[in-house]
Amino acid sequence: MKAKPTILKLGGSAITHKEKPFVANFFVIENLAREIAEANVSPLVLVHGGGSFGHPLAKQYAINEGLKNSSQIIGFSRTHDAMNVLNRLVVQALIEHNIPAVGVAPSSFVLTKQGRIEKMDLDVVAKLLETSFVPVLYGDAVLDLDKGFAILSGDQLIAKLAINLGAERIIVGVDVDGLYTADPKQDSSAQLISRLSFRELQRTLSWAEKAKATDVTGGMYGKILELIPAIEHGVRTVIVNATKRDTVRKALRNEKFVGTIIEKE
Ligand code: ADP
Repeated sequence: MKAKPTILKLGGSAITHKEKPFVANFFVIENLAREIAEANVSPLVLVHGGGSFGHPLAKQYAINEGLKNSSQIIGFSRTHDAMNVLNRLVVQALIEHNIPAVGVAPSSFVLTKQGRIEKMDLDVVAKLLETSFVPVLYGDAVLDLDKGFAILSGDQLIAKLAINLGAERIIVGVDVDGLYTADPKQDSSAQLISRLSFRELQRTLSWAEKAKATDVTGGMYGKILELIPAIEHGVRTVIVNATKRDTVRKALRNEKFVGTIIEKE
């Protein structure tokens, strides 16, 4: 592969209605598909989150705790299937905009160990990219070498993909404008951080560590923790609002945009 890929993550908070189980945000998905088509970036890997499709079932069947009893088995199938349904909605919207999208289930090429990626066969994804396809992956229920199964988050996946595919950059789309000094949904005085070096990020995180206990979902903190290996590897990482018109297109095109840029130096 000659050009370095761009990895674009579409957060579950942006493409689903998080409080409504199994309800996709078609408006946002359609808008993103159009903007991705307009930006015309290649090679491009898309990864989307689970939002209200993956989380309720994963939680109900405690998939991330691993296989403890046989009643969870059907739950794994249900969780994976729900993610597949969301994946189809995203892929269909992209194809409507003439993007040669191909959905690929991470559970078919990733094995985790204690929830961390242990084996990842990227031959098919790399070949898809080489052939000008846009692979569309997602956070998935995957098999785990120790626990039986686990949840592989889209965030863990993008960091590993970025390193192993030699990506140029990661663009993470969420439902807020970027990384703030505090959760902007909870704290109206939160300030958007427009640029952050890796060193500043580490300082911010050691501070955030203390607040972690209150952040049950992981949210932005968990996301950044997952992205660290890629940032340290030198992959330029930006966080933008995927629900705001034109933002993802501008970020893809390297035009001026509102968001957070995190770089190694
Ligand atoms: P996704 O599911 O799209 O990957 P998450 O819901 O896990 O995204 O994380 C994004 C959410 O993190 C935002 O909606 C925001 O409310 C929350 N959040 C918590 N702390 C912060 C912060 N410091 N800066 C920005 N967002 C934050």
